[in-house]
Amino acid sequence: MKLPIYMDYQATTPVDPRVLEAMLPHFQNDFGNAASRNHEFGWKAEKAVDTAREQIASLIGASAKEIVITSGSTEAINLAIKGVVEMYGEKGKHIITSEPEHKAVLDTCKHLEKQGCEVTYLHPDKEGRVSVQQVQDAMREDTILVTLIWANNEVGSINPIREIGALCHERGVLLFTDATQAVGKIPVDVEADNIDLLCLSAHKLYGPKGVGCLYVRRRKPRVRLVAQQDGGGHERGMRSGTLNVPGIVGMGAACALCEQELSEEAERTSKLRDLLEDKITGELDYVTLNGSREHRLPGCLNISFSFVEGESMLMGINDVAVSSGSACTSASLEPSHVLNSMEVGDELAHSSIRFGIGRFTTEEEVNYAANKVIDVVTRLRELSPLYEMVQEGVDLSTVQWQGGH
Ligand SMILES: *Cc1c(COP(=O)(O)O)cnc(C)c1O
Repeated sequence: MKLPIYMDYQATTPVDPRVLEAMLPHFQNDFGNAASRNHEFGWKAEKAVDTAREQIASLIGASAKEIVITSGSTEAINLAIKGVVEMYGEKGKHIITSEPEHKAVLDTCKHLEKQGCEVTYLHPDKEGRVSVQQVQDAMREDTILVTLIWANNEVGSINPIREIGALCHERGVLLFTDATQAVGKIPVDVEADNIDLLCLSAHKLYGPKGVGCLYVRRRKPRVRLVAQQDGGGHERGMRSGTLNVPGIVGMGAACALCEQELSEEAERTSKLRDLLEDKITGELDYVTLNGSREHRLPGCLNISFSFVEGESMLMGINDVAVSSGSACTSASLEPSHVLNSMEVGDELAHSSIRFGIGRFTTEEEVNYAANKVIDVVTRLRELSPLYEMVQEGVDLSTVQWQGGH
């Protein structure tokens, strides 16, 4: 076993060796511009892109013509939301989204609020999910778009997208879903799931970084967008710029592998996640699961450890690469907005750790990580006066603290 162990698959994934192999010829031998119409180099590149487009579309039940290639999910999110608002702004200016969205969605919505849009931010339940009823209650005459994350990147909670999509179609409102964490991990079918727009990103599903796409429904209804980047009219005018052929080929190969291996991989990663959770909760008390036990991604486990600090925790388990919801470790100074929206409480938010399990995680690694976590938490709690008081039967909620805090 090699150290450090990678357990941060929601942040990014390594490129699958089979994906890399498919990409390599397109850096040197087959380097053509997919828009070159006059020679073999261009035709070959175009053909490779066409194949990739089919592979991507197939994974989500779309047709190749509905795939608009972008530089990743962030760009696809901007194109979807801003593109819809510019195209359908006459019909209304109201958008429905939710508090635990990815920053790319939240910041795009904030940008549009400054330009006169009204945005409703649905408050999720304690598991980080929103309900069909909440969406229905928030809908107004002037609602033009519902934008909801399918599977949350911090806690792995899965929203009832199919039911929300049915509601949106009934009301004639467009549904965009940020499916960056869902695609390749759980079954996604834009037809059965009633989706009008959807984004995915190659680097979250064992493809390369810097490439992704937006699915744009072409019939029932035909969705139209105003392009956010002008130029040579690539991607049917919706996203100009020379195509990243090796990246797109990689995204296609990655999607094909996900399609072939999805159910097997979901089963394997779920088992490893359960093993990790069972080992940790079997040895430690005061451990809380953040998210949903029933509706969650296979490879995501977010837990909080009372009476320890996230920062000390991360230092203690420094040969296991994970993420924390703690303020001290992230770039911003606020604790995770996702845990905040779920009303987890500051203390538990600060001691939360997200373990990401993926295609290359082994049982040996899970055992190592679990033992390490157990050791570190036990050691840190031995130094914690609060933990000692709780062990002695003191009810902390009744204690009068001196000096505020
Ligand atoms: C990673 C991620 C994004 C951003 O994707 P990029 O391709 O890195 O821009 C957006 N939404 C979710 C849910 C993500 O996990």
